[in-house]
Amino acid sequence: MRIQNYIAGEFTDPISAQWLDNYNPSEGVVYGQIPNSNQADVEAAYKAAERAFPGWSRSALEERSRILSEISRGIQERLDALATAEAKDNGKPLTLAKQIDIPRAAANFQFFANAATQFSSESHETVGRNAVNFTLRKPIGVVGCISPWNLPLYLFTWKIAPALAAGNCVVAKPSEVTPMTAYLLGEICNEAGLPKGVLNIVHGLGSTAGQAIISHPNIKAISFTGGTATGAHIARTAAPMFKKLSLELGGKNPNIIFADADYDKMLATTLRSSFANQGQICLCGSRIFVEASIYERFKTDFIAKVKELKVGDPFSDTSNLGALVSEEHRNKVLSYVALAGQESGMKLLTGGNKVVVKGKEGGYYMEPTVIEVTSNKCTLNQEEIFGPVVTLMPFTSEEEVLEMANDVPYGLSATLWTSNLSRTMRMSQYLQAGIIWVNTWLLRDLRTPFGGMKASGVGREGGLEALRFFTEPKNVCIQYDE
Ligand code: NDP
Repeated sequence: MRIQNYIAGEFTDPISAQWLDNYNPSEGVVYGQIPNSNQADVEAAYKAAERAFPGWSRSALEERSRILSEISRGIQERLDALATAEAKDNGKPLTLAKQIDIPRAAANFQFFANAATQFSSESHETVGRNAVNFTLRKPIGVVGCISPWNLPLYLFTWKIAPALAAGNCVVAKPSEVTPMTAYLLGEICNEAGLPKGVLNIVHGLGSTAGQAIISHPNIKAISFTGGTATGAHIARTAAPMFKKLSLELGGKNPNIIFADADYDKMLATTLRSSFANQGQICLCGSRIFVEASIYERFKTDFIAKVKELKVGDPFSDTSNLGALVSEEHRNKVLSYVALAGQESGMKLLTGGNKVVVKGKEGGYYMEPTVIEVTSNKCTLNQEEIFGPVVTLMPFTSEEEVLEMANDVPYGLSATLWTSNLSRTMRMSQYLQAGIIWVNTWLLRDLRTPFGGMKASGVGREGGLEALRFFTEPKNVCIQYDE
């Protein structure tokens, strides 16, 4: 099957007539082709967006909101088809796509459909000078949205929905590895009555199609989620052109467990925060620090639970973990596991191997893996692995664990398990992370600021932060006569 670009409301082949193979990672086979788009396709998408901008940016808020709600409804109505497409394209369990990815994509559109009508701007009265200032929040124009493969439709819509809600027109590129649900979104947008050219979806490689978006002189803002190295490259390209940038990048998140935590809840949640989506969520807690007094107990119970997890066909209800997204990615993850046998102070506690699933022998499966480490300075604790691999390490004091938690280049999220309120407050003050969960994980309220510090990114998404990013503030100062 061939998927196509979505430009000016039409489905089109790439101008160069070049195509790329699209893999089904749970079987390791090519099951379709996607456009290998280049600068010419991005230019066509840009032109369509530019033509649509005057109409869309001046459309009534209620109308914009209504269309975004319709898109949300269209996603919900196709829950089964979209979830199936996501599981096939990405390798994730179908149950996860049905429960998390697709409902969240619909929620993103509904949230920003509502937010568009609630967004307001400031007014400042300059008392004593007979003046009033008010701030207009104008859409930027044509903006670029680039997303990764781990939560394909979920993260794609998390960018597109606020960009559209704020009145911008969009040129978007999903990851070349997981293009299918973004393709299906085009059809939903047409049915919802989104005017032609307001959203344009270009498929292809980061180095060509993505590069053409970030270096386009008239695409004035880039919202990007992906790896830190790509984020740095985008910043280098876009900064001299004074583009607005929102960069959501990698993480190496600590999961800090104190002895006074609700043990059963912590254990069940830690299993999820370690291995959900095969550990391929930027928010997964990949460094588990456990207070020494419960370390051995936790280690025994956690390993037992990890061994019960079933790796298998994403389309089976009994699979807890599906396939990794690509062979290349699985090789990268396995190369980190191999370090456990090479660097001193590391011990493989469970997992570490490829898994061969009957009937799907070519798929990119691997065991959930737990490695004990003795220093936070080791490679496994410093570099993002982005797979089903976590490390385990004991700590003895709050100061020690805080120091280790912060001693990484990243600062996306942190999870804290404790029943001590003062400790919660102290640690929340000093943890270097944009998102801190206490006694829970991945509990998301879409109004809250989302993003990281240090090498985890620049800027925040979510709620009004996203609408602020996708608008340009313009202050109007009026002086009046006495
Ligand atoms: P990449 O950085 O490789 O790719 C992300 C997107 O950028 C893809 O669409 C990719 O296209 C594109 N891209 C690559 N090179 C360029 C370029 N030169 N110009 C423009 N676009 C380009 O990340 P992955 O897809 O591998 O995703 C995994 C990473 O994403 C992890 O590091 C993870 O932590 C991070 N992530 C961060 C999140 C956050 O919110 N902070 C959430 C989820 C993931 P192509 O696929 O064709 O290469």
